[in-house]
Amino acid sequence: MARGCSDAPVLRERGQREVFCGLTGIVWLHRKIQDAFFLVVGSRTCAHLLQSAAGVMIFAEPRFATALMEERDLAGLADAHDELDGVVAKLLRRRPDIRMLFLVGSCPSEVIKLDLGRAAQRLDGVHKSNGVRVLSYSGSGIETTFTQGEDACLAALVPQMPRDEAPQLLVVGALAEVVEDQLSRIFSAMGLTNLAFLPPRRARELASVGRGTKMLLAQPFLADTARALESRGAVHIPALFPLGVEGTTAWLTAGAAAMGISAQRIRDAVEMPETRARLALERARAELSGKRVFFMPDSQLEIPLARFLHNELGMELIEVGTPFLHRAHMTPELEAMPANTFLSEGQHVDRQLDRVRAARPDLTVCGLGLANPLEAEGMTTKWAIELVFTPIQGYNQAADLAELFARPLRRKALLEV
Ligand code: SF4
Repeated sequence: MARGCSDAPVLRERGQREVFCGLTGIVWLHRKIQDAFFLVVGSRTCAHLLQSAAGVMIFAEPRFATALMEERDLAGLADAHDELDGVVAKLLRRRPDIRMLFLVGSCPSEVIKLDLGRAAQRLDGVHKSNGVRVLSYSGSGIETTFTQGEDACLAALVPQMPRDEAPQLLVVGALAEVVEDQLSRIFSAMGLTNLAFLPPRRARELASVGRGTKMLLAQPFLADTARALESRGAVHIPALFPLGVEGTTAWLTAGAAAMGISAQRIRDAVEMPETRARLALERARAELSGKRVFFMPDSQLEIPLARFLHNELGMELIEVGTPFLHRAHMTPELEAMPANTFLSEGQHVDRQLDRVRAARPDLTVCGLGLANPLEAEGMTTKWAIELVFTPIQGYNQAADLAELFARPLRRKALLEV
């Protein structure tokens, strides 16, 4: 049996890293759970990060904010719990549409050891009778990557899920609504009806979980959430992630087969969208085939993206860096990659930059902080964060995903003319 690069050696590095913190996840999570509010308990730095990550999205009624900790809070001169209670009461009075409130921890709240878990429990008791649930998680930047904010948020939802042992397929990971709708349509064309998603679109639609739950991960960065669901009886279905045509077919097939759908019904439902998506990839394939790509560790999407770029678009993988290599979730991906793939885990940014400079890749996928310096050295880059903010999963998005990698190369070619 082909083992791909699952037995390949992995370069493990520790050192300075260049990544965003978990607060970033609020930018896509607040769009997904439409009656949730994210209250960051943090500093002005946290507020600025959130504002710039949210970019141009200005809402009349934003669904995230920062409860600013001032110097006297940090010096322990004020009772932060009292202040937080006041801020939450005011917020909920002003915004009766909020059904789920997340208190989001930050570096400053962790430094002063402000126990947001305890605060959430207390406030949940106060506001539950008004139909508002209060939960907490940490988005702090200490030793995390930016997608771990979503993992922490979803893991906080798991204890709230009602128990139900009935068979169901639970898709885990925030997907854009358009993607979720497409994938639901394909599952229902196969005859699969007992399908649920985590996170839900509305607080009251939170799925149940139990021993009949089969869990299909839609995102590769959900280690804690998966562990929490497993502890409640859910069973993980190993699968490729739904990126590209190959990944989407494998992901849909694994989920449906685990629910007892026949191979023929699965094939019938995927045949047409799969063929269409494959055709749509041809333009990007002609542009990307043979080009050399280097992934720096950032979003944890690196391995499935590298598999897509190599297997479906013919790109050559120089190095595939990932912040963490979660083998239990990544085995099917590793088995689908070329045996000689150079994998690295963690980061020592200077050493890795030396490898980038030595290899002179056609395209380097990296965080925002590294993109500008590399561009200044004449290299072409792709911001990893854009891949998380854009709908990229499923058949209809496969060509758009390829386009995200083709565009910087095209722009470079135009500039060189
Ligand atoms: S949580 Fe930490 S890393 Fe993130 S913005 Fe606030 S201070 Fe910076």
